[in-house]
Amino acid sequence: MRNIFKIQRAYPLATLIFLMLVTTYTAYFYYQSQYQYSISLVGKLAEQQAENLQRVVESDLHFIGAGANFFHSTQPEDWIRFPIFAEQIVSSSDTLIALQWMPRIEKSNLPQHIAKVRKTFPFYNIFTVPKDGAKTLGYILESSSPIFPASDVYPRTPSNFNALGYYSSRERFQLIVDEISRTGMPSVSDKIRLLQDGLDKSIAKTGLLVYHPVFNVEEPKRLIGVVIGVIRSTRYFQSIVSRTASEHELLVRVTDQGFDAEDDPILYQSKGWQDNIGIEISKIVHLPNRNWRIDFRLQKSLSSNNHMTLWGIYLAGIIISVMSSYIVWLMIRDKQHLEVLLSERTEELQFLVDHDVLTGVYNRRVFTRVLSDMIMLNKKFALIVFDIDKFKSINDRYGHIVGDEVLIHVVQVIQKVLLKDDVLVRTGGDEFCIISSISSYPLLKKHLSHVCHQVASSNYKSKNNIIRCTLSIGATIRDNESLEDLIQSSDAQLYHSKKAGRNCVSIAQ
Ligand code: GH3
Ligand code: MG
Repeated sequence: MRNIFKIQRAYPLATLIFLMLVTTYTAYFYYQSQYQYSISLVGKLAEQQAENLQRVVESDLHFIGAGANFFHSTQPEDWIRFPIFAEQIVSSSDTLIALQWMPRIEKSNLPQHIAKVRKTFPFYNIFTVPKDGAKTLGYILESSSPIFPASDVYPRTPSNFNALGYYSSRERFQLIVDEISRTGMPSVSDKIRLLQDGLDKSIAKTGLLVYHPVFNVEEPKRLIGVVIGVIRSTRYFQSIVSRTASEHELLVRVTDQGFDAEDDPILYQSKGWQDNIGIEISKIVHLPNRNWRIDFRLQKSLSSNNHMTLWGIYLAGIIISVMSSYIVWLMIRDKQHLEVLLSERTEELQFLVDHDVLTGVYNRRVFTRVLSDMIMLNKKFALIVFDIDKFKSINDRYGHIVGDEVLIHVVQVIQKVLLKDDVLVRTGGDEFCIISSISSYPLLKKHLSHVCHQVASSNYKSKNNIIRCTLSIGATIRDNESLEDLIQSSDAQLYHSKKAGRNCVSIAQ
């Protein structure tokens, strides 16, 4: 039972550990499901935003293409109507902020060209900004090759007038012209600082130029000019962020993977962008001559609500675990207490079934059983019956309680002198039996005389009284007698001792 108790004492701890494991698993499962949900959400949003951006850029390219088509399909006399045409195009787009017309002008035709443009823009003069140099007026190319000066612009605002007359003197521009002449497709620049914003180098590069070729209608291979769409590119990317930021803290970084972008490839980066944190998904937007990679990043893979729920699960789990293990502890404690009580009561009952309540020696039930067993096994033994002499008078004189104490005293004295195998039984009232293994008459006589003497010479002190008592003993050494005959014979010997004056031993011969 002790071992079982020890094992049971571990149940509350086992309950606590088990429920904490269940809690941890539940929290982990919740975290995983929310994390997977976030990944799929970011994936869908990224897909959607990349598609939107691709569509907006394509639409701008389409508008710029329409602008180019104006110069391709109309006669030079009609080009004066460019602003009317361009107005419809620019007003259709949020990001396309200006259209420029840059006709191809041979060096020798420059004076006529300038004179012609000055009819519309009297301040018109050609200029360029050489690499790492300042604004320089006039034609400065060493190769005497044709230039593409900005000759008309829409909208006609003071800031756009800053671009009028500008021609590129850089090699990069020549490469673009070669490319669009060859492919017939528009070309998107890398990140640039717009002339509209000023020439100061500290101004952020927030624009893009789209170069669209314009071919001669009769000679489709002959490039007659370039229409440039001026795009405020940051608006593309701000619109991606503003559409998602309110719902999820989704950050965006756009990297230009195209020609000449290596030195400063980041077209746009959300505030607070940090590499390698949270969930990142990349998408590619394809332009005719370059690709943009868009990295979407959800820096916090779980929302604050998710965190609250996660803490809630933990807290509830801990409370449930602790309470459950406490309840288990209470139940085990009560159960063990009841089991101890039950086993004590069972032992007490078992004792009472076989023993006399007052003296604690065996009762008549055990007497009959032992005697029957000895007879059945045909053993040699002696049955001794004894009775306290004049016990009634002790009761009468000192009271029943003292009488009980005397009975206990007599038993204690006799138990001290009994042999190891002797069985002492109270058969009723002041009458007792001893089943003894002694089977020799002299030995039995000696043994019982000793018993008789020990009781007679013992004193029992009760308050101020010294009480003495004696025994009358009758015994039979069994030969072949039955149970009834044996009891009857021993009773007869006891009667004989009483008759003989008490305090003596009679053994059947
Ligand atoms: P005798 O010498 O002839 O045996 O005389 P006696 O007075 O002992 O007579 P008997 O044995 O017949 O009387 C036994 C008395 O023991 C009767 C009863 O009042 C008393 N007695 C029986 N059981 C108990 C008990 O459990 N406690 C007490 N105190 N007295 C008991
Ligand atoms: Mg008696």
